[in-house]
Amino acid sequence: MEIPYKIYLSESEMPRYWYNLRADMQKKPAPLLNPATHQPMTAAELSGVFCDELVRQELDNDTREYPIPEEILSFYRMYRPSPLVRAYCLEEKLKTPAKIYYKFEGNNTSGSHKLNSAVAQAYYAKQQGLKGVTTETGAGQWGTALSMACSYFGLDCKVYMVKVSYEQKPFRREVMKVYGASVTPSPSDTTAVGRKILQEHPGTGGSLGCAISEAVEVAVSNPGYRYVLGSVLNQVLLHQSVIGVEAKIAMDKYGIKPDIIIGCAGGGSNLGGLIAPFMGEKLRGEADYRIVAVEPASCPSLTRGVYAYDFCDTGMVCPLAKMYTLGSDFIPAPNHAGGLRYHGMSPVLSELYDQGMMEAVSVPQTAVFEAAEAFARVEGILPAPESSHAIKVAMDEAIRCRETGEAKTILFGLTGTGYFDLVAYEKFHNGQMDDYIPTDEELARYAAKLPKI
Ligand SMILES: *Cc1c(COP(=O)(O)O)cnc(C)c1O
Repeated sequence: MEIPYKIYLSESEMPRYWYNLRADMQKKPAPLLNPATHQPMTAAELSGVFCDELVRQELDNDTREYPIPEEILSFYRMYRPSPLVRAYCLEEKLKTPAKIYYKFEGNNTSGSHKLNSAVAQAYYAKQQGLKGVTTETGAGQWGTALSMACSYFGLDCKVYMVKVSYEQKPFRREVMKVYGASVTPSPSDTTAVGRKILQEHPGTGGSLGCAISEAVEVAVSNPGYRYVLGSVLNQVLLHQSVIGVEAKIAMDKYGIKPDIIIGCAGGGSNLGGLIAPFMGEKLRGEADYRIVAVEPASCPSLTRGVYAYDFCDTGMVCPLAKMYTLGSDFIPAPNHAGGLRYHGMSPVLSELYDQGMMEAVSVPQTAVFEAAEAFARVEGILPAPESSHAIKVAMDEAIRCRETGEAKTILFGLTGTGYFDLVAYEKFHNGQMDDYIPTDEELARYAAKLPKI
């Protein structure tokens, strides 16, 4: 059978379920803990912050398949399936015998995979009869995805956007407003935690952890509102499994088996979603794959962090999660431009990494932008800097194949497009980008402040 250059699934081949990887993990990810009592968070406690159905998904380590509700499937049909593309031109340029495939999630207005979970979370909020949701956004992809989903379901959407991004990325901010969201730069004086942070750090440009604290405070203090998060949580990895399930259906159809699966890792949602069905086979002993997480050298939670309970946010209002973490007040160096800035990693991926089921590497940002440009020039897509971490390592692996003569099959996640990241590309072009890597002493200082559990 001839394999098309781009593999799309037909409507009848599209997945109708999300796959819950936790069901196949013998040792489950550690539970979220109540920050006051250090006891596992109960559904009742979590339901003050998250929608009821999402709480159920968060705590469910056993149900293997979740049917995707019909309303979500019809939203998915607007922009899915995403193509699985054979990168012939890149292979040729690298003169590699490797076969390189990428799953491209940038074909929607949010420009990333984040819409896959945003639509699910907005749907369940609507089902519960809520008025609206609150969230944080850094660069703005998640806020954009959520505002799209909320406008579709008629929900109010309040976004706390990290102040530096709010100022440097006016276009993302305006896209969110197109979809009817209200966007507040964080830290702000609209919340108690924001006022406290402003008092302690006047002039701060904000951080994701701080924006999360503000969004949670607004959700729990306004009736009819809940908080939603775009990465890290178990429920988000569940929704993102649509990426991996689609990829696996497409590959199985043509008898393609990846040897290496590569994804960038910020909070872990795209990688967790892409690898889900493959990791499931690996956990059940049915197949083996090399799975590689790629993170920035300036924010290296898996490769240099500690596996411990930590706060998910700066204000310490969220539950504690056991994860590979750099410490909740870690903020990457100001010149860091490549995204993937979160201090911790999804508890599911953290546990799998700890069990030795996957690898992790970190890459310096100038190498990431070099790879991004090399890719753009032959494959035609301007990649997001985040996605380009995966491109960089996929290219390294393909070059290694050239040296060893092995014709390996590589699959990587191309999570999004970089049109709103041109200030970062500009820094790269003007030679204003350097590769700051935190020292061991710096990391130890942050790690020393981890909560003692
Ligand atoms: C948010 C984002 C990421 C990183 O988030 P994960 O949860 O680790 O997937 C990667 N790529 C793009 C384009 C993003 O918007």
